[in-house]
Formats: sequence, structure tokens, C-alpha cells
Amino acid sequence: MAFESLDLHPSLLPLLKENNYSSPTPIQLEAIPAILSQRDVLGIAKTGSGKTASFVLPILTLLQRLPKKEKNREIDVLVLVPTRELAVQVGDVFNAFGKVLPNPIKTMSVYGGVSINPQMKTMFGTNVLVATPGRLLDLISHNALELSKVRALILDEADKMLNLGFQDEMNEIFNLLPEIRQNLLFSATLSKDLESIKNVLLDEPLIVKIESEANDIQSINLSGYFVTEDRKGPLLRYLIKKNEMDRVLVFTSSAQKADRVAAKLTKNGIDAFPIHGKKSQGARQSALEAFKTGKIKVLVATDLLSRGIDIEGLPFVINYELPRSPKDFIHRVGRTGRAGENGLAISFVDKEEIKHFKVILKKMKRYVEMVESDEFDLSGY
Ligand code: ADP
Ligand code: MG
Repeated sequence: MAFESLDLHPSLLPLLKENNYSSPTPIQLEAIPAILSQRDVLGIAKTGSGKTASFVLPILTLLQRLPKKEKNREIDVLVLVPTRELAVQVGDVFNAFGKVLPNPIKTMSVYGGVSINPQMKTMFGTNVLVATPGRLLDLISHNALELSKVRALILDEADKMLNLGFQDEMNEIFNLLPEIRQNLLFSATLSKDLESIKNVLLDEPLIVKIESEANDIQSINLSGYFVTEDRKGPLLRYLIKKNEMDRVLVFTSSAQKADRVAAKLTKNGIDAFPIHGKKSQGARQSALEAFKTGKIKVLVATDLLSRGIDIEGLPFVINYELPRSPKDFIHRVGRTGRAGENGLAISFVDKEEIKHFKVILKKMKRYVEMVESDEFDLSGY
């Protein structure tokens, strides 16, 4: 099946070719026709399987079918995402595809950590708003926009958006939306909250589950190193140098640790930036940009970056510290091996953590031969 037979707006087709989208991914194949017929959709498909385009392409097509909209503060489509970086990324995909359409579509990404004034000033006439919940509510309280005419609500990383952390903000937002609307939920993983709310939120949805969660990361190679805390830094530098890794995303469990690991790498001649929630938005954006463009080899991140961020050609992810849950593990290691590329995810495991690592692996239905690193000569690293 080809994109040509999906009834997308014809102007999109040459652009898909240009971007090497030769055929729709399984989630795109299922979700696009359903969205075009204005059904609600719950789409579960693994990390890197093209979920973004599976809603961007049909939404843009539907918007083209509408009569030209008057310029006002009424948003047509609302996309909610958990992080600022993801807001930027999803907005970029709407803009990249939207630019070829005959009826111009205005997409804006809004998120906190930057001044609200420029966002307010440029909000007028926006069709598609990609937002983090907190900043969205701020903008609404400033009367910068209206949600009462929203036709479609999209939750990307839906399980995250519907978990406890966002609950109050989400409820506030739901109350401002019109009752009749299209609802689209996309996620790589399911949560209890998502399971329980889907019947409230969705109206006779198409439920697309491409692969079971456990099979999510089957195509990503996993390896594990036994290492004591004091040797993690040297081991990291040893692996990066020995394997000539020129692009690697390292995860730590705290902002302080991310800072420390990045500083140590830089001191040892490996260019690295930290990225986490305690950094200014400017610093976060420039770190991610420097990493994507290859100016720095290593990005040291907290779980802030585990959700949805698409970095082309990222062969390595290293868990300097293990994530708390199997779900976080899926999202972290899913930053590699995207769109069918190869990926290796390495985990550093302290002897006390092996039980936890085994729990994670069991959930993944994976087995990993642990490497003992005690004997590695790490002097000089
Ligand atoms: P997900 O949200 O499922 O984790 P993304 O939507 O971020 O994945 O897409 C992952 C990568 O795959 C992106 O770089 C995107 O451009 C690419 N991609 C999406 N759809 C296709 C396709 N049909 N053919 C080739 N590449 C695609
Ligand atoms: Mg995604």
C-alpha cells in the first residue's frame, strides 16, 4: 500500500518522497484513514514508528477541506505534549508538511521557560497549536486564545499526558474544550491511567495496537556492564573512545548527575552538554541543537529527553544509571533504532541494581549477557 492510496491532500505526496517516506508505516496505514473519516483513534506503536506523521498528515488534509477560516483567536487543532522539546519537534513536523498546502495552515508551538509575550503576540490566526499544558493554561488566562472551537484534540505521549502529574491541568483543559470533537491518542506505552480514561475520553475509537509493549524494543540491541559507582565515569569514557562513538545519548537519574557526568567528559576531551529541567530553556535548546547537528558528541540527559525526541542517526544510548521503571527504559532506549535504523543500548549496572535490571529485562522479554568490567584497565580514562 502506498501513500498515494490514502486520500491525503495531493500536495503532500511529492514532499513525502523528498523526505524518503517511501511507504506508510503500519501505524500510519491504520491511523490515517480513520482520522480522515473523523473517527477517534487510540494508536499504540513502538518508539520511532512514525506516530507523528500518522496524525499530522490526515489532520493537515482535513484542515484543507475546511472553508478558509477567519483570523481570530480560535484554535482548530490542539496537540498536547509533555515537554518543551517535543512541542518544538511536533510543531516543526506540522510546519514542514503544512508549507506545501494551498490553504496556508498556521502552526505554533508554545511552552514554558520562555517569555510569554512573544507567544501571545503571534497567536492570532493560529490553526494548530502544539502546547505543554501549563503554558497553554497561562495563555488562556491571558485571553490569548480560545479552545471552544477545537475540532481535534491530540495527545502525543498520551500515557504520560494522562498520568497523575498532569491530571489537574488536563482536567482544566478538557473543561474548556467543546464536547463534540475528534480525539486522537498516541503512545508507545500504555498506563493504567490511559486504560481507565480511554473510555471516557474516546467515542467509539479505532484502537490500533501495532505491537505489544514487550515487543517494542526487540530490534534494539541491549548490553549490560557490571560496574561500581566510582568506575562508571572512566568506563563511560573508555567505551566512547574505544568504540569511537561519535553520537551518544547518556541518561542519568538526576540533573546534578547529568551536570557532573557532562563536565567530566568535557574535561577529558569528549565534548558533552547536559540537558535537564534545571537548565534554562535557551541552554536546553542549544544543547539539543548542538547534538543534532553533530557539534557535540555526547548529550547527558535526564528522563526529560526520554519521551518522543527524534534524533536521526543516533546509534547509542547509555544508561549511566538505570531508569526507575520498565516503561522509562522503553522510552530511553527507543531514542535509538528509530525508523528502522540500528541501535545499541548499554546499561551500567551496580551489583545492587541487578535485581532491578532483571525485572526490567523480564518485562521486555529480553535476556542480556552481563559484562564484568572489573578487569578493564581504565587508567587514563
Ligand atoms: P514515534 O513518534 O513513533 O516515536 P516519529 O514520528 O518521531 O516516531 O518518527 C520517527 C522517524 O521516522 C522520524 O524521523 C520520521 O521522519 C521518520 N518517518 C516517519 N514516517 C516515515 C515513513 N513512512 N517512512 C520513512 N520514515 C518515516
Ligand atoms: Mg512520537
